[in-house]
Amino acid sequence: MQQASVKDMTDRYGVIGNPIAHSRSPDIHRLFAEQTGEHITYERILATRQDFTQVVRQFQDDGGKGLNVTLPFKHDACELVDQITELADHAGAVNTLLLQDDGTCIGANTDGIGLLRDLKKSLQLPLHARKILVLGAGGAARGIIEPLLGERPDILLIANRTKANARAIADTFQEAGPVWGCSLDEIPSRPFDLILHATSAGLQHRELALPAGLVGPHTCCYDLMYGDTPSPFMQWGREQGAERVVDGFGMLLEQAAESFYLWRGKRPDTAMACRCLRPQPPA
Ligand code: NAP
Repeated sequence: MQQASVKDMTDRYGVIGNPIAHSRSPDIHRLFAEQTGEHITYERILATRQDFTQVVRQFQDDGGKGLNVTLPFKHDACELVDQITELADHAGAVNTLLLQDDGTCIGANTDGIGLLRDLKKSLQLPLHARKILVLGAGGAARGIIEPLLGERPDILLIANRTKANARAIADTFQEAGPVWGCSLDEIPSRPFDLILHATSAGLQHRELALPAGLVGPHTCCYDLMYGDTPSPFMQWGREQGAERVVDGFGMLLEQAAESFYLWRGKRPDTAMACRCLRPQPPA
């Protein structure tokens, strides 16, 4: 019998979203594969709201084993899965698809685990009894609220451009802890310990109009977005005098590592990946 070549044994993965060109996920998963000796390919896939389901199905029919789902499709992904993890189901947001050989599809959400690992393990940031503000109420925010409430903060306020979306998330997680929703201009002008920016305004190069007084001397401003240069939210945090200003690259690595584990059963070394892949500030 002929031995299977490495190419035959190579499994196909990817990240689907819109926009997608900026995504660092291919570099990350390729490095994880190298670290763990897994044979995979990983590509960027652009979809539209109209063809999202069809593109996923085609990828699976062509032998694809798994997808990361990024904005704006995390909610749409819930609709196409056959099974869903409890966390993703509660969140109404899926960021990881496990495409099974029998043609079915399992949905999971690793955003919350990724964020908590970065905040607690890498940044050593305490969350218990802290005042937390989440800006945004899209797919990313949905995935992080329940894990954040699990840390028993003093308060978790979700503020969003469309107030109804913030209120809807707060209502969903009412039983899980002290969570409220409001519009951006209703945020009370008092310092929070942690401000998490989870809107896509930065991707459109737009700035949020935020009230004064949200940043105190010990506030950490954390932008889920990542890039080669500090985002408008990070610049705002610095101007307001935040003690720490952080981008979402650590979360990106940690949520990717959890997806990789779900797909391949192996845990990559995220600290090493961070040293290799973190964008360096321009000289
Ligand atoms: P999404 O589902 O499309 O949600 C977008 C959110 O941004 C909504 O709350 C929307 O408000 C708000 N928004 C959009 N344009 C705005 C503007 N001009 N002004 C104010 N608010 C605006 O996106 P998502 O999946 O939640 O992603 C949000 C961000 O998180 C993105 O930058 C993404 O790259 C980042 N992210 C990073 C990681 C990581 O691992 N680091 C993981 C997930 C997401 P409305 O409700 O009013 O439309």
